[in-house]
Amino acid sequence: MSTSNDGIGPADVAVIGAGGAGLLAGIAAAEAGAWTVLYERMKAPAKKVAISGGGRCNFSNTLNPREFVREFGDPKARNLGPSLRALGNDDLTALLERHGVKGACERHYRLYTESGRGQDVVDALVKEFLAKGGTLACNAHVEEIAREGERFVLRGSFDGAEGAREAKAVIVCTGGLSYPQTGSTGDGYTWARTLGHGVTDLKAALVGLTVEEDWPSSLAGTAWPDALCRLWPAEVPGAPPAKRGKPWCEERKEILFTHFGISGPAILDASNAFVRAGVPRAKLTIDFFPETTREQLDTAIRTRFYNHPKRRPSRALEGMLPARLLEAHEKRLFGERPPDANRVTRELRMRLIEWMKDLPLTVTGTRGMKWGEVTLGGIEWADIDTSTMGSRHVPGLFFAGEILDLAGRCGGFNLQAAFSTGYLAGKSAAGFAKPA
Ligand SMILES: Cc1cc2nc3c(=O)[nH]c(=O)nc-3n(C[C@H](O)[C@H](O)[C@H](O)COP(=O)(O)OP(=O)(O)OC[C@H]3O[C@@H](n4cnc5c(N)ncnc54)[C@H](O)[C@@H]3O)c2cc1C
Repeated sequence: MSTSNDGIGPADVAVIGAGGAGLLAGIAAAEAGAWTVLYERMKAPAKKVAISGGGRCNFSNTLNPREFVREFGDPKARNLGPSLRALGNDDLTALLERHGVKGACERHYRLYTESGRGQDVVDALVKEFLAKGGTLACNAHVEEIAREGERFVLRGSFDGAEGAREAKAVIVCTGGLSYPQTGSTGDGYTWARTLGHGVTDLKAALVGLTVEEDWPSSLAGTAWPDALCRLWPAEVPGAPPAKRGKPWCEERKEILFTHFGISGPAILDASNAFVRAGVPRAKLTIDFFPETTREQLDTAIRTRFYNHPKRRPSRALEGMLPARLLEAHEKRLFGERPPDANRVTRELRMRLIEWMKDLPLTVTGTRGMKWGEVTLGGIEWADIDTSTMGSRHVPGLFFAGEILDLAGRCGGFNLQAAFSTGYLAGKSAAGFAKPA
């Protein structure tokens, strides 16, 4: 077993995991003059960045740091101040533009690649890292890290051979537990625990929700672009309907019915509130027409029924909502033999409007780690010095990215957090390994 870096002594900084956090950590450390080696277990770096945002990579957003923390969707985002000051969204955008990757702003503040290729972001970050003099080692699976005297020893499999590598400082950027097919299987949590750090409960977040009702699965693939989704405590079977207080969350975006239940951006964001509540069931209500009052809807429905008096209600309403959704609910709303549109009573219209504005579903769980876009929970912030991203227990050890106890909403928040914490950790680790 080789015990050094090919006989040339320890690296200044070893970064473990070449995802978004690891690449920025490597760039910052190399930029600061540290000999930096970035170890990645997969054949190629940053698979998750490449597939993010549906392959178009929503790499950041245009919010200023204060808005970014406020809109993040996790109170623990307040720990990000120093990281966002070290590398803000404008610094990231400038870095990417230097490599020809332009951002396109969509839906208020989200930054996607203009080219529509997430891989362009990966290629730009790898180029930047190599240009700064960093060394990228893929097929390098670190299995254990140990502090031995003044150095860290990384043991594992490097290009298929068992071995060890040494470094003066180590940055753990191994990501969370979710979407393990991209390489993140939670190795860093084990090392962090062994080295004396707390790790909170870990759960899949930004994830599709399973539901008790079976009609959504019959509509798999049907999307609706603008729904207001509210998540509430589950109703107790047999008990009178609970008086509604404030929902746990309100999310207004696209939804998608699927073979397992419901997904889409509004649901992914709502899933974080469901997972945080730690309950087995919850109630989800959907308003398909958040901009339209019940009175306005009634006028629109009456106009359609007037114009198509002899059609079944679902046919007369075609175009207002997806036909498959209307058909799936027609019997429940209008009875076994739906009347012609001109015979629909006021009472039935009111039932229809209630359904359009407040359709209930019973959430029974999430789709789990395999499909979660992020992991909720991680290394406890109390064990990290947020001004450096360094461990409070082991000098020379740093953490960045999704391994931290942080889970943001959709909108470029998670990637920017990974990039920013990575950059600050890289700069600090270089300062530790090569004091001025
Ligand atoms: C489908 C999907 C879509 C997403 N879309 C968006 C989006 O559009 N915008 C957004 O902001 N966020 C998005 N996210 C979330 C975002 O991608 C992650 O939060 C972010 O990539 C986390 O970065 P990271 O570097 O901390 O971890 P990761 O990207 O998971 O990187 C960790 C790296 O460490 C490597 N590794 C792990 N263990 C070892 C080991 N023992 N030895 C060596 N290497 C190791 C892994 O192979 C991996 O390359 C999405 C996530 C998914 C799954």
